[in-house]
Amino acid sequence: MPGFEIFGEEEKKQVLEVLESGVLFRYEFAAQRQGVWKVLEFEKAFAAYTDTTHAQAVTSGSAALKVALTALGVGAGDEVITQGFTFVATWEAILDCGAIPVFTEVDLTLNMDPADLEKKITAKTKAIIPVHMLGAQARIEEIKAIADRHNIPVIEDTAQAAGGRLHGRHLGSFGACGTFSFDAVKTMTTGEGGMCITSDESLWRRMSEYQDHGHDHVPNPGGRGGEGRPFVGFNFRMMEIQGAIGLAQLAKLDGIVAAQQENKQFFKEAVSVLSGVSFREILDPVGDSATFLTFMLPDKERTTAVNQVLRDQGAGAVRWSENGWHYYPNWEHLLEGKTPCHGGWPFSAHGKRRVLYDPQALPASAAIIERTLTYQVPIILPDEQKTKFAAALKKAAQV
Ligand SMILES: *Cc1c(COP(=O)(O)O)cnc(C)c1O
Repeated sequence: MPGFEIFGEEEKKQVLEVLESGVLFRYEFAAQRQGVWKVLEFEKAFAAYTDTTHAQAVTSGSAALKVALTALGVGAGDEVITQGFTFVATWEAILDCGAIPVFTEVDLTLNMDPADLEKKITAKTKAIIPVHMLGAQARIEEIKAIADRHNIPVIEDTAQAAGGRLHGRHLGSFGACGTFSFDAVKTMTTGEGGMCITSDESLWRRMSEYQDHGHDHVPNPGGRGGEGRPFVGFNFRMMEIQGAIGLAQLAKLDGIVAAQQENKQFFKEAVSVLSGVSFREILDPVGDSATFLTFMLPDKERTTAVNQVLRDQGAGAVRWSENGWHYYPNWEHLLEGKTPCHGGWPFSAHGKRRVLYDPQALPASAAIIERTLTYQVPIILPDEQKTKFAAALKKAAQV
């Protein structure tokens, strides 16, 4: 669960160093800042942690996706494939680039189904964004192999899986780029914030320059302002206070994952009393960031009945089929093409609809999601909470 559960002296000390330096901006002010470069230090630490060569800090996980897509050259008319079970930000970023989101089914990993991905690739596909949803691995090795065959770059949306690994390798480090979110409810948090990781130096350079208004980041002895501009950019710069908190939280990340692994085991045993229960497929339990326990019941009716009893006991699980932010058929603003823009952009251009979405387009995902329930796993789990939870599950087992 969120890193805010264990905010402490480490975060305070880091933030104070920034306030004492008096410099909140991540660039420039070399004379005033007394050697304090928190965002830069956070980027170096994050790249080292994930075993990649470069990391680019930005303002959010949404911005990280936008920056990665743009630096990979994605724009109007392109298609980008992602999955129909994710947070809205994944496809908002695609739309924000002018590109068209195309959705695949998820399988029992609750992540992108590689067989469906293969079917949805067209000549217009310019990027593929599998999401490591709910803390655990997408079939990233298979997805990467398919993408490589078609010569399409992969961006891993790792917003929900910081600290997760597959066969020892960090999630986010398989594709051309991995993106992370440090928003208020993510595994490690800086309040708002995001990161792009890559081992492709030229991609990193484009991301770095794009998120800073297109300033070229060639070392410039003349100081900021005199440098060139390779292309137009925008401002997605992280500030020093976020970088400082990020350093403190990153140092705790493996400890967070270890605590969650242990607590998840307790949740799993408690849920196992439900007859007919099965669990989400986890490709590598050792590398699971264990932020969530997700399980399935045999059908929709039983899932409704069991969760009702759990809710009555104050232990209701999240049911994604009832959630408006993560599940394709519930994204009515996407399906209906709602936009504040005159002319209907990005759903329409020049008076013509560019894309139409069918709410029934992902039947295999629906068959899984409507019988799926999830508990968020806390970092800190007191004994009284355990007792209460186990009692609620015992009661639900009688349904
Ligand atoms: C949280 C999240 C994002 C967006 O991150 P923000 O920092 O909130 O903008 C993107 N993708 C997924 C899967 C997320 O869960």
